[in-house]
Amino acid sequence: MVELVLHGGAFASARILQEVRGPRMNPMKTIIRLMRNRVPRLSCVPIIAVAVFAALHAQPTQYDLLLKNGRVVDGTGSPWFRGDVAIKGDVIAAIAPRIEGPATHVIDVADGVIAPGFIDIHTHARRGIFEVPTAANYVRQGVTTLLEGPDGSSDVPLAPFLAKLEALQKSVNIGSFIGQGTIRSRVMGDVNRAATPDELARMRALVEQGMKDGAFGLSTGLFYVPGTFTPTEEVIELARVAGRFGGSHVSHQRDDASKVLDSVKETIAIGEKGGLPTQVTHHKVIGKANWGKSVETLRLIDDARARGVDVTIDQYPYTASSTSIGSALLPAWALEGGRPETLARLKDPPQRAKIKTESAAMIRDERGGGDPKNVQLANCSWDPSLAGKTLADVTKQRDMEPTVENAGEAAMWIVEQGGCQAIFHAMSDEDLERIIRHPATMIASDGEIPIFGRANPHPRSYGTFARVLAVYVREKKLLTLEDAVRKMTAAPAARLALSDRGVLRPGLKADIAVFDPARVRDLASYVQPHQYAEGFSQVIVNGQAVFESGAMTDARPGRVLYGPGRVTP
Ligand SMILES: [Zn+2]
Repeated sequence: MVELVLHGGAFASARILQEVRGPRMNPMKTIIRLMRNRVPRLSCVPIIAVAVFAALHAQPTQYDLLLKNGRVVDGTGSPWFRGDVAIKGDVIAAIAPRIEGPATHVIDVADGVIAPGFIDIHTHARRGIFEVPTAANYVRQGVTTLLEGPDGSSDVPLAPFLAKLEALQKSVNIGSFIGQGTIRSRVMGDVNRAATPDELARMRALVEQGMKDGAFGLSTGLFYVPGTFTPTEEVIELARVAGRFGGSHVSHQRDDASKVLDSVKETIAIGEKGGLPTQVTHHKVIGKANWGKSVETLRLIDDARARGVDVTIDQYPYTASSTSIGSALLPAWALEGGRPETLARLKDPPQRAKIKTESAAMIRDERGGGDPKNVQLANCSWDPSLAGKTLADVTKQRDMEPTVENAGEAAMWIVEQGGCQAIFHAMSDEDLERIIRHPATMIASDGEIPIFGRANPHPRSYGTFARVLAVYVREKKLLTLEDAVRKMTAAPAARLALSDRGVLRPGLKADIAVFDPARVRDLASYVQPHQYAEGFSQVIVNGQAVFESGAMTDARPGRVLYGPGRVTP
């Protein structure tokens, strides 16, 4: 009698479900309240009798939510099966071909896929989570858990950041790595030298504190300043500390262009010698001259796995990357010591000439993709009107022909003005497709939480997971649906030692994404990135719907997740 089954498809009818929610949905509670109020009053005996009779004959509400008639893709990679999923509180209570209930809410998902909520192991969510705590760009593509602190960059110490996240009413779960670059910067500054024993001891202590605060592992950004100044041995020393607390290492590699093979070897060595799992994050091959090298990078990874090194990969499904103009198009030595020193070098004519030559080479052979048209500005705080323009446009605006050399000049000018985030088209589809098919590859966005409509961010923040399901599963058939979901759920959960999420099993947390495999797609493009993904009907976090009937709900059930080494304060 409590049950309400909606037919005709969850996509059309879920709105009705919201409307019928209310006090009358729970007659048991009403009866109990009636009994408590009436018991002392003899005149109410008949009412009590009726209430007791009703209570004895009403079935107690067994489940809070019952998803019926789904194709259950459980996250393990096993073939889907037709079934129902029942939720009680914040956990999955039952999964079976047919569950009768009763349940407070019943949703007929009409043959939609019921999958674990997606776990995004590489995000820059602190860009935006406090302004947009719904993280709608992620939720609307099925993501229920975000990992922060990638690329060697995190809050240090971590505890205040996690406490602030605890206090935030948010739709998604969130956790963090501890960043080697931030730690090094804090202890030594952005200098190009090895650490002294004393500095190394202080950095070790900061990693240990980060792990005890609840980090999932150590992230490095050996491409960036100051990570790029770090000798491999020093990273290994810090990785050992993270490993002792059950954490993993995840690396934005030193060089994803001409030295990508050396970089993969280094990432493997950090795991092998550091004694912890290691991950090549957003694995890619940059620059036309290097295209095809993923054949060898994947062979290195296969060989390492065969000899017992736990090395894995994550990747976003786009052939353009995104980072700052300074990091991507100026040599690392020009950035040493921070912005004032960079500006001083740019004022010194001989050094400026050298930077320009090297920048032009980076535009020609690396991130610039061989043409200033392949660099698109995403966000320039000092001139928002530049968002969407290319480096070729800026070069022309500066009254220069858009040659590679002149674009180097324009890149230096941009850095002098305050720098910009940009999108760099410099990868091949062949490498992307080879990497995405690898069994050790998981899906991660490397995105952020944009303010809707502001600036021109990389579309990966809105589209990554939907794009994999639409393009690489449905259109290109490079992945099976089940394997794609595994790469978004069980694989990252295993990496994070998250034993209570990432798979659909009774007793595990009810993080769930429901989507139509025939309709799911990304809409965000490089030109119009602010477009949500389509095809999802329900997204559930810790048992509560955060997205249904095409809209975010008012529920904020997201939690802070902590790594395996956490020491509870
Ligand atoms: Zn990165």
